Amino acid sequence: MSETRRSRLVAEVDFNKDGRQHGFIRLFHSVHSSAYGFIPIPIVVLKNGDGPTALFVSGNHGDEYEGQVALCNLAKSLDPAQIKGRVILLPMANFPAGMAGRRTSPIDEGNLNRSFPGNPDGTVTQQIAYFIEHELLPLADLVCDLHSGGSSLMYVPTALIKRSPDQTRFAKQLAALRAFGAPHAYITGGGNGTGADHTLSGGAERQGPLAVGTELGGSGTVTPAALRIAERGLRNLLVHLGILPEVMRIPVDGPGRVVEVGGADYFIYAPDSGVFEPVVELGEDVKAGQLAGRVHFPETPWAPPVEFRFARDGLVLCKRIPGRTMRGDCLFHLGSDTTA
Ligand code: CA
Repeated sequence: MSETRRSRLVAEVDFNKDGRQHGFIRLFHSVHSSAYGFIPIPIVVLKNGDGPTALFVSGNHGDEYEGQVALCNLAKSLDPAQIKGRVILLPMANFPAGMAGRRTSPIDEGNLNRSFPGNPDGTVTQQIAYFIEHELLPLADLVCDLHSGGSSLMYVPTALIKRSPDQTRFAKQLAALRAFGAPHAYITGGGNGTGADHTLSGGAERQGPLAVGTELGGSGTVTPAALRIAERGLRNLLVHLGILPEVMRIPVDGPGRVVEVGGADYFIYAPDSGVFEPVVELGEDVKAGQLAGRVHFPETPWAPPVEFRFARDGLVLCKRIPGRTMRGDCLFHLGSDTTA
């Protein structure tokens, strides 16, 4: 794919203009009910002179709400006169998925965070990915993509970065991760496999900006605690970048613990289809061989449940929320302590 092809999406805002602007990125979409219409992806730009650019994204998965609320609040509370540089807010990145309250787009079933670097002539979701990768990421010094567990998972509130082979980049991302100050932080292995990374953070590696992510909570809801962590973290990232003055930094006591999420032995999948009974709690420390849970068969209540165990020691970072479970669903994942 040629990277010189232009996105067909059109931004109503001028990224070089000082002050506060809001509007839409227009994704033209000709359908039965709207022949010449566009999909309106909301965007807010705050700029004051020269300086670094922060790009904050939420709604990459439409059913992850903590970041969407945090960016709604930031869009109104941040005063362009207070900043030095530029802040770009994209609160509902996969707008059709966000409006539907779904992880994926109801238009094309696209998972935006598996669609990078995108395609300017592809599906709606691929066109959004292409615009973010080729039009927004090159403007940014740092991107924060706010995720959570969505409808099916719940996380201990964490901020995260990818382990990068570039030690300078990794050190800068680690400093930003610590500045965010979530109670827990985790470092991901950087994808499984050697192919292109189709996430937004993979796009950031290709286009240059530092990338910090979050897994703030989940269960398809917003908790006051998770929202507080998100808002404090975003504010502190702006201070860390020098976009806001040092006096606006909010004191943090995290990350209390930095963990690493590695390969297959960190993940527990449902061994059968039935009703999931977890026997450990989120945030608990577990040992290899410890009972993790059971799958029950209420349609055959005299049948014994299938038990399953953790494959390694670790901290329970994430667990599945819905009880009804299909074989292959992710039920837990762990993190193991690291010195980063
Ligand atoms: Ca997510």
